[in-house]
Amino acid sequence: MNEEAGAEPAKVGGDRPEAAIVTIGDELLSGVRADTNGPWLARRLSELGFAVGSTVAVGDDPERIGGALRRAVADADVVVATGGLGPTDDDRTRDAVARVWDLGLREDPDLMAEIRARFRSRGYHDAPRASRRMAQVPEGARILPNPAGSAPGLRLDLPADPGGPGERILILLPGIPTEVRALMDGPVEVALRDSFETRLAPASIRTIHTTGIPESALAGRIEALLDDVRGVEVAYRPSTHGVTIRLLARGPGAGERLERAAKLVEPVLAPYQYEARDGDLAAAVGRALNAAGLRIGVAESCTGGLVLKRLTDIPGSSGWVVGGVVAYADRIKEGWLDVPASVLSSRGAVSEPVARAMAEGIRRRFGVELGIGVTGIAGPGGGVEDKPVGTVWFGIAGPRGTHAEKVWFQGGRSEVRERAAQHVLHLVLRSVEAPGRADRIRTSDSRGG
Ligand code: ATP
Ligand code: MG
Repeated sequence: MNEEAGAEPAKVGGDRPEAAIVTIGDELLSGVRADTNGPWLARRLSELGFAVGSTVAVGDDPERIGGALRRAVADADVVVATGGLGPTDDDRTRDAVARVWDLGLREDPDLMAEIRARFRSRGYHDAPRASRRMAQVPEGARILPNPAGSAPGLRLDLPADPGGPGERILILLPGIPTEVRALMDGPVEVALRDSFETRLAPASIRTIHTTGIPESALAGRIEALLDDVRGVEVAYRPSTHGVTIRLLARGPGAGERLERAAKLVEPVLAPYQYEARDGDLAAAVGRALNAAGLRIGVAESCTGGLVLKRLTDIPGSSGWVVGGVVAYADRIKEGWLDVPASVLSSRGAVSEPVARAMAEGIRRRFGVELGIGVTGIAGPGGGVEDKPVGTVWFGIAGPRGTHAEKVWFQGGRSEVRERAAQHVLHLVLRSVEAPGRADRIRTSDSRGG
């Protein structure tokens, strides 16, 4: 949806409080480490209802840290900074803040006691001097306890202009991403909600995972449907695993608008949609197999074990995965999966009867309810006119028979393999999940496209 629609009803977005992000560390500038805190915080802050105006990265130089923080505080209602709070010499954020706003550094007795206790509990006589620096706190700062590590976060209420009233909030967080997340999800969120509650326009968000339909096709169909619902933004995040759609609404009635939009798009998305909190289709497959009491075996050629890897990445997969065969060479397909040599030579390894025979072979050999066969041409070489690179045949053999289908995937070798693995997982999910659709594992004449 466009900006205009997103601005309905009145005021949504308009007077949202503004947030700025400052990420601190030489490693972010030298390219040694990619900034993950910045994007994560940006998403989190906008979900909370802030308008994020800028993200800036600076090195460990105190002058630059001070400058970046001063400008950010002048611009935004809330500034969240990460990094440089640790015990080492390159951790300069405290000093920089103290200098810019002319604040003394004092030792916080509770923090100091905690740090000492932590070291003593590990058998040390006392905390090393460097670690004691972590108890140094700029005057007026409030401590935000760190649920995931030792360095706490700090909150300062500062004037937008030096000497003015303290109407801006500066949040200093340690650099370690897991600690940033824990602090943000805990004490920082509480503090920000308390301070900005009436001005925040929190987002209501619905995330929908799809696979098997290109972004452009999805967008065309969804946007036509949503013409009737104002004030719902749609964002598409495509990857080799499919397209994740995010519906977002803010302001009064956001929840209802979102619900209406979700209902409208549901019929279009249903064939492609899967439920997974973390977006992993393999986890959804695992739940479905588990619930149905089915065990699976996998025979893979072009995916080289990727399907089995995806499945066994899921904790508890031993309950429903029996194993697999990576049958790359013809003689392995023949000897280990009973694919007839005559079929391999007459039809080629990438063909419907081979995909079927692989699925049936693994099912029989492993004594499982569901057998999977994947055979294709991942490229970059090996394509021929009637079987271009990206051609993959899938077989799925179940108690009711075997279904086979062919898909042509775009992309380089790794994209084709990733997409093929995702496709076969979706095929399994669809055939297992809805009992009414169990006929997807059809008898021998069925074919897809
Ligand atoms: P500590 O010194 O206690 O580990 P700190 O507050 O001093 O914490 P840093 O030293 O700046 O934090 O960073 C700690 C770790 O987190 C480093 O490995 C650093 O590379 C990583 N890190 C810091 N900032 C970011 C960021 N923006 N994105 C991803 N990783 C980061
Ligand atoms: Mg650092």
